[in-house]
Amino acid sequence: MCGIVGYIGNRTAYPILVKGLQRLEYRGYDSAGIALLDDEIRVYKCKGKVRDLEQLTKGNNISGNIGIGHTRWATHGLPNDINAHPHKSMNGKFVVVHNGIIENYTHLKNTLKKRGYKFVSETDTEVLANLIESIYLENKLSAENAVRLALTKVIGAYGLVVLCVDEPDKIIGSRKGSPLVVGVGNGEYYLASDATPIVEYTDRMIYLNDEELVVLSAQGLRVTTLDDVQKNPTITHVDINIDNIDKGDFEHFMLKEIYEQPTSIYDTFRGRVDLNTHQINLGGINEVMPRLAKAKRIIIVACGTSYHAGLVGEYLFEEYARMSVEVEYASEFRYRNPIIEPDDVIIAISQSGETADTLAAIRMAKEKGALILGICNVAGSSIPRETHAGIYTHAGPEIGVASTKAFTAQVMALTMMAFVMARKRNKISAEKFEQMVGDLVKIPDAITEMLKEEKNIKKIAEEYKNATNAIYLGRGYLYPVALEGALKLKEISYIHAEGYPAAEMKHGPIALIDNNMPVFVLATKDKYYEKVVNNIQEVKARQGKVIAIVSKGDETIRKMADHVIEVPNVDESLMPLVAVVPLQIISYHIAVMRGCNVDQPRNLAKSVTVE
Ligand code: GLU
Repeated sequence: MCGIVGYIGNRTAYPILVKGLQRLEYRGYDSAGIALLDDEIRVYKCKGKVRDLEQLTKGNNISGNIGIGHTRWATHGLPNDINAHPHKSMNGKFVVVHNGIIENYTHLKNTLKKRGYKFVSETDTEVLANLIESIYLENKLSAENAVRLALTKVIGAYGLVVLCVDEPDKIIGSRKGSPLVVGVGNGEYYLASDATPIVEYTDRMIYLNDEELVVLSAQGLRVTTLDDVQKNPTITHVDINIDNIDKGDFEHFMLKEIYEQPTSIYDTFRGRVDLNTHQINLGGINEVMPRLAKAKRIIIVACGTSYHAGLVGEYLFEEYARMSVEVEYASEFRYRNPIIEPDDVIIAISQSGETADTLAAIRMAKEKGALILGICNVAGSSIPRETHAGIYTHAGPEIGVASTKAFTAQVMALTMMAFVMARKRNKISAEKFEQMVGDLVKIPDAITEMLKEEKNIKKIAEEYKNATNAIYLGRGYLYPVALEGALKLKEISYIHAEGYPAAEMKHGPIALIDNNMPVFVLATKDKYYEKVVNNIQEVKARQGKVIAIVSKGDETIRKMADHVIEVPNVDESLMPLVAVVPLQIISYHIAVMRGCNVDQPRNLAKSVTVE
C-alpha cells in the first residue's frame, strides 16, 4: 500500500520525487504529496493523483535538494487534502510520510492531547509526527534519537520517512512491517517503498530490515537498529528492466501484462527446465528438498489472486506428488491458532513479497518449527528474506493492480514444484515426468495462440458490459480459475461476480439465474467434461446466458452456449495457465468499456502491506 519516495543529493529533488510517485502510484492513489527541504520545509499535498499534485505545485517554489513524497492508500480518515501526506508536527519541526497503520494511535493521540497537542487530520500518521516532535522537544534529543525513541512507543506497522527543520541536511527512514529500500547513487541517495522509482538512477539497493533506522546525508549513510546498534547493510544489485515499468505501446499496464504472459511464464521456467533433457532444477529449494519430500502436509498460505494460484497448487500436489495439501487465507490462518507440526511445510505465495497477512502467517509458522518456502515475484522483498527457501517467479514488475502475469507465473512455479516432488517421491515414472515437462514448456506458445482470440473476446465483452452480476463456474483444476475470473471482473469493472465449483451452483447460486445473468463456464475437455456439460444445460434451462471456455473444436457445447471461446488443447493439469487468459481479457475489455480505470481500480492498491 502507499508509495514512498525520497531523495537527497545535489540535484533538485522535485522532478525525481514526482516521477518516482508516478511510478509508485499503483501502490496507492487516493492522494499525493511532497515535502521539499532547504532552509525551510515546504509541503504540497492534495486529494487525487500525482498529476493533481503537479497542478498544485505549478508556479510555486519547488527548489530543494532534499525531499520526500507519498501516494496514499487511506486507512485512517477520508482521502482528502488534509489527510494526505506528508504530515507536519504541530510546531512545524518535523514532516513525515508513512506507510502502514499505527495500531495504538488512539492512546498516543490522547496522551499527546493532554500535553497540549492539537490535531488537524484524522490520520494515525499525524500522531506519529507529533509524538516524534514532543519527544524531541521535551528530551532535547537529536532528530534521529527522537525518531528512535518514538518508534519504541509505537505498536503497528510503518515504513516511515522523516525530515526535521532543525537538521536540514538529512533524511531519516525506518521500517517495521512495511518495506523501505535505499538506493545508493553517486553522492546521492534515494528512498522508496520498492525499487521501481529508483532503478533508473542506480541498481544498488539496500533493503532495510524491520526495526532498522537509516540516516541519509551528504556525509553518507548509516544504518542502525532502533537500539542504536550499528549495522553493516548489504548492497544488492537489482536487475529491473526499465521498459518493464513503462506501458510501451499498450493503453494500460494490465493489457501489456496480459500480453507479456508467454514471456513471463517462459522466464519462470527459463534456467530451471532443461529444454533438451526435460529435467527441472529448482535451485532455490534444492537444499531443503529432503525435508520437503518427507513432509506430512503442505499448507499454502496466500491472499487474493495468490490464494487462487495456491488452490491450483493443491490439485497439482495431490494428484502428482500425492501429498496432502491445505490452502489457507493467510489472514484467517494466522489468527486461528492452527496446528502446525515441524514436519509441515508452509508455502507462502505473494507477488510483492510484502503482503502483511502472509508475512505474519509465515512468522508464526516458523516459530512452530515448520519449513517455510516462498513463491514471490519481487526479489529482495520481505517474504523471500524470511523464508528458509523459495522460488522467485521472475515475471518482471507487475504494475496493473489486478494481477495477471503474476498469477500465471505463480501457477507455473507451483507446477514445476509439484512435478519435481512427484518424481522425488517416486509417484510418477521418469517417462511420465519427461512427458509432462515437455507439455509444460509448450505453454508459452499456447498462450500466444490464446491471445489471438482477443478480438472475438472483445465482441463478447461488448454484449455483457452492462451486466450487474456474473457467475463463473469450473471444476477440478478450473475451479480456482473460475474464482480468479470472478475476482478479475469485480476488481476492475465493479460488476458483482461470484466464482463457484460448477456442481455447487445448484446449492444456491442457481436461484440467481435468469435471462440477464451471464454465466462463464470453464468447460474444456477433461475428466469433468460431461458433468460440466450438464451444468451448462442447467443454466440454459433457466435462460441464463452461457459464455463457455471450451477446447478447440468442441462442437457439442457450441450448440448449447450463447458464446464460446476456444482454448488450445493442453493437458488438463496445465489448463489453468491458458484458460485464465480469456477471462483476464474479457474483464479488461468490459472494464474499459465501462470507463473504469483498469490499472488503478477504486479502493484497491498493489502490495497489501496492511493487515
Ligand atoms: N495509515 C496512514 C493513513 O491512513 C497511511 C496509509 C498508507 O499506507 O498510505 O494515512
